[in-house]
Amino acid sequence: MKFPKGVRFQCQRCSRCCKHTEERRRKILLSDLDISRIEKNVGLKGDDFAEPCQESYPFRFLMKMVDGKCVFLDEDKSCKIYELRPLICRCFPFWIERRGNLFEFKASSDCPGIGKGNALDSIPALLV
Ligand code: SF4
Repeated sequence: MKFPKGVRFQCQRCSRCCKHTEERRRKILLSDLDISRIEKNVGLKGDDFAEPCQESYPFRFLMKMVDGKCVFLDEDKSCKIYELRPLICRCFPFWIERRGNLFEFKASSDCPGIGKGNALDSIPALLV
């Protein structure tokens, strides 16, 4: 696992990751587990908030967007299902890229929270 040194992150609560921007179309990918967790707790059917897509496993669905924003994004920029949010939202702005046997930890330059706050020097630090 290759982990970049000195990455700093503190969420600025701008909700940029919950909507399309001029530079980027946001794809909020969902797994079966994400779908069932939200369905069970919110009382909606998967079809109400997601549509099938052809992404790599385990992501088989895309969150629906309304006016370029996630269907669960509230007026005040908060997430209506924060405790139930999809895995990909929990991890943003980070992801792991695989190249052969090498796994590389990446951070999105699209997030204004990168470069702010304390340095993260390990993956567990991100998961608290
Ligand atoms: S993770 Fe980044 S893009 Fe998303 S709300 Fe926080 S600062 Fe904004």
